[in-house]
Amino acid sequence: MRKVVLVGCGSVGTAFAYNLVNQDFATELVLIDANKEKAEGEAMDLMHGMAFANTNMKVYAGDYSDCKDARVVVITAGANQKPGETRLQLVERNTKIMQSIVQSIMKSGFDGCLVLASNPVDVLSYVAYKESGLPASRVIGSGTTLDSARFRVLLGEYFGVDPRNVHATIIGEHGDSELPVFSQMSIGVETLDNLLERRGNVSDRDNLRVIFEAVKNAAYEIINRKGVTNFGIGTCLVRITKAILNNEHSILPVSCLLKGEYGEEDVYASVPAIVTREGVREVIELKLNDEEKSLFKKSAEVLRKTRV
Ligand code: NAD
Repeated sequence: MRKVVLVGCGSVGTAFAYNLVNQDFATELVLIDANKEKAEGEAMDLMHGMAFANTNMKVYAGDYSDCKDARVVVITAGANQKPGETRLQLVERNTKIMQSIVQSIMKSGFDGCLVLASNPVDVLSYVAYKESGLPASRVIGSGTTLDSARFRVLLGEYFGVDPRNVHATIIGEHGDSELPVFSQMSIGVETLDNLLERRGNVSDRDNLRVIFEAVKNAAYEIINRKGVTNFGIGTCLVRITKAILNNEHSILPVSCLLKGEYGEEDVYASVPAIVTREGVREVIELKLNDEEKSLFKKSAEVLRKTRV
């Protein structure tokens, strides 16, 4: 059984659920929300699409006892950013919510992987890891999966190539202290340095910095226009869930516990990691340049200081 439980059926949760039911790798999706009627309404609505879906998935509203035999529980519950509010400012409200949700999940006997999106996602992933007693490898934050996806799409547009051929990653906090790893970027099999030399455009490096700033501020820009961000993160959560359920050994930039990698310990931050049915099998330690090393250290420090 490939059962997924979603806790939090708001904008992000329902974007995840809608994307999931249009794929074919999960067999069951259970919706939980503090507002039970909302979960019920969303489940009914999603189920009505099954006549045209790729799969015969069971979708229903449930309760925490449903987590017992789930392979993945995705948590998108909690308050979201108001216009102008940073992710880190959400920490107090959402830490309490996360602790109580994780306690309820664990009471069921759950023994799968937790995937979190609630913000500040790195700090809350650490909270969920501590509260759950699960091995850190099985508590994963969506982290900079979204930022890296945004980065790849904008870089793809800039260079006129398919974003799937853009190998670029953003690491650190999912938030204002995150950093792009330009030193390890490639387009297809060509390194960034080679590509820029071949193009001979003196503005390229400055333009890439501008693209990164646009990625960093994307959530603010989207929230100013539509009030929330949901579709991009919904797609990222499905991507991570698929890597786990299909035991893909895919490399994704996710928020995970650092145990000495990148010189950091006891902090959740995003770095590329190999994701399997057991969660994070291995953190990939990139060879950062001196500027990147120092920015990553600062980002980890921000995350450590933000704990409640
Ligand atoms: P939302 O307000 O639309 O939905 C939140 C849902 O959580 C609501 O349905 C609410 O009833 C439910 N909820 C609240 N407390 C609960 C509890 N104790 N138990 C069960 N359900 C509970 O918010 P949203 O826009 O969906 O955002 C959800 C979270 O995701 C926020 O923290 C937001 O900042 C975060 N987010 C993360 C990313 C990312 O990249 N990681 C992107 C966008 C949003």
